Amino acid sequence: MLDVVPVRSLQLMSYLPIIGEAEVEALRAAAAPLRDARVLHVNATAFGGGVAEILETLVPLMADVGLAAEWQVIRGSDEFFAVSKASHNGLQGMALSLDGPMRRTWRHYNEQNAHELEGEYDFIIVHDPQPAGLLHYHDRSQAKGRFWIWRCHIDTSQPNPEYWDFYAPYIGEYDRMIFTMPHYAGPGIDAGRIAVIAPTIDPLSPKNRVIPPDDGRLVAERFGIDSTRPLLTQVSRFDPWKDPIGVIDAYRQVKAEIPDVQLALVGSMASDDPEGWTYLDRTLRYAGLDGDIVVLHNFHGVGAYEVGCFQTVADVVIQKSTREGFGLVVSEALWKGKPVVAGNVGGITLQVIEGETGYLVSSVEECASRTIELLQNRDLAVAMGEAGKEHVRRNFLTPRLLSDYLNLFNGLERVREATGVPPRQQPPPSA
Ligand code: UDP
Repeated sequence: MLDVVPVRSLQLMSYLPIIGEAEVEALRAAAAPLRDARVLHVNATAFGGGVAEILETLVPLMADVGLAAEWQVIRGSDEFFAVSKASHNGLQGMALSLDGPMRRTWRHYNEQNAHELEGEYDFIIVHDPQPAGLLHYHDRSQAKGRFWIWRCHIDTSQPNPEYWDFYAPYIGEYDRMIFTMPHYAGPGIDAGRIAVIAPTIDPLSPKNRVIPPDDGRLVAERFGIDSTRPLLTQVSRFDPWKDPIGVIDAYRQVKAEIPDVQLALVGSMASDDPEGWTYLDRTLRYAGLDGDIVVLHNFHGVGAYEVGCFQTVADVVIQKSTREGFGLVVSEALWKGKPVVAGNVGGITLQVIEGETGYLVSSVEECASRTIELLQNRDLAVAMGEAGKEHVRRNFLTPRLLSDYLNLFNGLERVREATGVPPRQQPPPSA
């Protein structure tokens, strides 16, 4: 059996003050026909990165509205995760090769994990490329899924063809493929089986619930930040697409104008991201001896709450990605009323509305000049932060994601007969 990730319990009712009664009622109505539906989410890691962050909230909320929702993770060696990280990069368009041994490694671990898959489910949702072969390789006598869904969290609109050609046949077997933006689906994907769903953040998680600014400042000070001086923050894994080096360049240009500015680069080391350590070293070398740059990660004791503190106390949040599936960190910052200066790429463009909730930038120079503008114009920064918070409240909070999944499941049940899928075993009526 695959490893089961334990999840906390959550109640939809707790979200009522944020989303309102009509939305709670709509969710309950959408969940009613799906009572006791067996749902399995599978991904590569229980900790670190956006997918784990989403499932921590989505799975317990699905359970709270009556579905039998579970989360399991695949197992892999360093070698497998090196291949899957290369695949993440290759599928987002990086020029890399995918040689025979790499293909064999990926297939081997997918086959092995697929054989560990057990049980009967109505909906099996496989997240991202790492376990994409589970459907292909699973043992039909020990694992049954009525519907299989592949959820892609990255931007595969312009993939490296060597990677895409390898993955496409595995992905093409799924009943539905979910992408964050419509144009993310790579070449040849059957348009009729695509669903478009943007991710969301949990407004009640330790990271996103309101943190009193004084508490946030105390935490930031503990990690060497002077809370009387301006602070720029970027929260992200140490990864080339997140461009921490570009952030340091932008910070240096800001510092030439505003000498007391500080920079916090906060990044978790995900267990499925072997490249992270190398990129962290590179970032540290690039930061050099500048004491106003603080580089932190979870091994320093920076957990979810501390990340929330850094987002809360930042004057401007930067997310200088050069490719980004969605970028949960952008919604996290906007939700805390912070203006965001971010790369004009991918899912960031859903969140940062130019000149309204922040600025979209395409170069170090633009990043620096927009940051200076916001640091020098407090009223503008506050107005953008407020607009950003409302934008996130309407569009990017977990109840909306729950609603999209329920609609997707209900939609699949409606077309079930046409696709030859057996009916769901209905639970006995409740007493
Ligand atoms: N994150 C964290 N600690 C860190 C760095 C990141 O908890 O030190 C979280 C971050 O707050 C966000 C997620 O990891 O919730 C990253 O998701 P995102 O979509 O921004 O990027 P991904 O890592 O999935 O590419």
